[in-house]
Amino acid sequence: MIGDQLGRPLRNLRLSVTDRCNLRCSYCMPEEEYGWLPREDILSFEEMARLVDVFADLGVDKVRITGAEPLLRKDLARLVAMLAADSRIRDLALTTNGVLLAEQAPALRAAGLHRVTVSLDTLRPDRFRALPRRDTHARVLEGVLAVRRAGWPGLKIDTVVIRGVNDDELVDLIEYGRRVNGEVRFIEYMDVGGATTWSMDQVLSRSDMLDVLERHYGRIEPIADDGSAPADRFRLPDGTVFGIISSTTQPFCRACDRSRLTADGLWYLCLYATQGTDLGAALRRGAGREEIMGLIASSWRRRNDRGAEQRLALSDRRRPLIQIGELKRDPHLEMHTRGG
Ligand code: SF4
Repeated sequence: MIGDQLGRPLRNLRLSVTDRCNLRCSYCMPEEEYGWLPREDILSFEEMARLVDVFADLGVDKVRITGAEPLLRKDLARLVAMLAADSRIRDLALTTNGVLLAEQAPALRAAGLHRVTVSLDTLRPDRFRALPRRDTHARVLEGVLAVRRAGWPGLKIDTVVIRGVNDDELVDLIEYGRRVNGEVRFIEYMDVGGATTWSMDQVLSRSDMLDVLERHYGRIEPIADDGSAPADRFRLPDGTVFGIISSTTQPFCRACDRSRLTADGLWYLCLYATQGTDLGAALRRGAGREEIMGLIASSWRRRNDRGAEQRLALSDRRRPLIQIGELKRDPHLEMHTRGG
């Protein structure tokens, strides 16, 4: 296993399969118009699997398929089957907005996907129409039910919490998680690329979330975890477990083993990184396995990224990370391109 400058291992790969999305969440894709990655640059499943195979040789054992919205990629179950066949990958997960999940869940499960995380920011249909700005709330809930009905373990529900927008739904979401047998994770609103309307006063911090939940449920206990997971987990008095991802106010960069591969093969070592390594181009110019392995290993050994900690240090000088003009010039800077 290789380590970076801070001794962090290369273990966790987020694999984006498309930069397209069928929702327009205000914290991720607030604009009316987007520039997309050129179609001819998007890697085939075979190319993605070849890269994942090299990553696995270097120690990656967790792969999360992302998008923007991964279920928009045609025949995704075929890629899942290719990755699931690799026994070195002990955790193969998918993050989806859930809109297409009900129809695709059986094929994904049959292909060997280990578990699913559904992004769901509100339980209220009227709010959903205003937040992701599409009328597909019922389909997302149907997708969650499809996972539950199939008895598929490991369901997680991810909610980005924005003050004044959906911060009155924490308890409702915990109750919903119980009903569908999913673990809810609340995510602090982050100032990443794409979040062009972000401001600190819209962030409901982890401690604010815990206060709200403690007032409702009583004493909340932290659960000790392996330290590299993005969510800190907690237990309610009745045993219900939930998580908080506090990247904005209490970042966890020191234990971060995650990197991101975009659908066209740019590899980023941090969600906040502005430069990536072009593994897709290397593959397409005919670089062999050893050369790609060398590229990955040398980049990881040089890695000293800790973007969220550096953003925290800006304190009240903190503003949206990247301005709209720059995002339009380079879609790789968008969070939806690098899989959140
Ligand atoms: S900001 Fe970068 S280094 Fe920190 S946890 Fe996120 S991806 Fe990892």
